[in-house]
Amino acid sequence: MDEKQRISLNRAAELKETIAEYQHSLKGMPTGYGRWPEIQKNQEKMMKYFGATAAEWADWRWQLKNRIQTTEVLQEFLNLTPSEIEEIDRTGAHYRWAISPYYLSLMDPNDPGDPIRRQAVPQLFEYTDPYGESDPMGEAYTSPVPAITRRYPDRLIVNVTNQCAMYCRHCQRRRNIGEKDLATPREQIEEALRYIRDNKEIRDVLLTGGDGFMLSNKRIAWLLDELDSIPHVEIKRFGTRTPVTLPYRIDDELCDILSRHLPLYVNTHFNHPLEVTPAAREACLKLARAGVALGNQAVLLKGINNDPFVMRKLNQELLKIMVRPYYLFHPKRVKGTSHFYVRVEEGLEIMEKLRGFTSGLAIPTYLINAPHGYGKTPLLPTYLLGIGKDTVTIRTWENRVLRVDNREAEEGE
Ligand SMILES: *Cc1c(COP(=O)(O)O)cnc(C)c1O
Repeated sequence: MDEKQRISLNRAAELKETIAEYQHSLKGMPTGYGRWPEIQKNQEKMMKYFGATAAEWADWRWQLKNRIQTTEVLQEFLNLTPSEIEEIDRTGAHYRWAISPYYLSLMDPNDPGDPIRRQAVPQLFEYTDPYGESDPMGEAYTSPVPAITRRYPDRLIVNVTNQCAMYCRHCQRRRNIGEKDLATPREQIEEALRYIRDNKEIRDVLLTGGDGFMLSNKRIAWLLDELDSIPHVEIKRFGTRTPVTLPYRIDDELCDILSRHLPLYVNTHFNHPLEVTPAAREACLKLARAGVALGNQAVLLKGINNDPFVMRKLNQELLKIMVRPYYLFHPKRVKGTSHFYVRVEEGLEIMEKLRGFTSGLAIPTYLINAPHGYGKTPLLPTYLLGIGKDTVTIRTWENRVLRVDNREAEEGE
């Protein structure tokens, strides 16, 4: 064996060691694929309760119609104590909740700390929360016409509906989630389209809400036709959590419509490896086959994914279903969500344990939202330690501190 190969083998052994702890952690970590047999059992039980066929179960309209919204039905599928039932009812009187049968089927019925359950089932803290504001990003002050939020020079959001398949307990726009599901009135959408038409610097339009895919296929086709008729709109994007909470929404007709309106990006919102199931995979692969580029916007949430290894696994699971991790949001100070807050140091630690340890493709940008709607602001562990006269000092993912030459080549050399 030559010297170079000996060094390479030593280095490989050293690298193997840096991943051992992660591999060990995977043994006890629940995932959507690992739990799938139990999830299927939960689904059978639910179909029996609702008297639904397998075809109905896989029909997104059936799923929406049969969303679970009372503790009376919820306790058929989760083991709830009387005090938990009271807690949900008390909170539910102030903050709406609704869970698609599919998303409920992902929960472990016996675990109050289940990461799926914590995202969907109300807790008393929401109602008693002394912290936060209803609109921490000041979206109400960045809305030039009713359905639009504009915080950037070349792109904006159109809020097309307030409806979602499931109302996340950590929702940043819970102020918009009223007692009723409301598609944005046609006149407001037309006003938004006029605004986009009149402002030629808008090249990127993000359709969200609520959930952009809660609109009917017909409405989506109309909206995309309208946007494609505006010459300066270069790309369209949807914000939707349906691949996670209602994967059956991604039907053939929708994919057909989307494929006729490329370039189109769909950003979704997976927060835990348990959400990456065979059903979610099918939905995402259908979108990918239609030519849609998929991204994920996760939110860092205490008790759900504030763990470097859970986050690493989540992002790796996403790549397997063609979803590219895009953003990791630091939790916003939204009233009713303080039980999910974590400190920035925790987010940085998670980022630190991604870079180098896994594919760059599996690494989202960690962001905090500036107050007053001043925009997404990236947060990064410090890798650039200093800039000297001729060199920069860097820190590698393994904490090696090294100097790199920073001079330009001299003219004529
Ligand atoms: C997040 C957001 C966008 C999109 O931002 P990107 O960084 O381009 O993904 C656009 N408009 C508003 C108001 C937003 O909050």
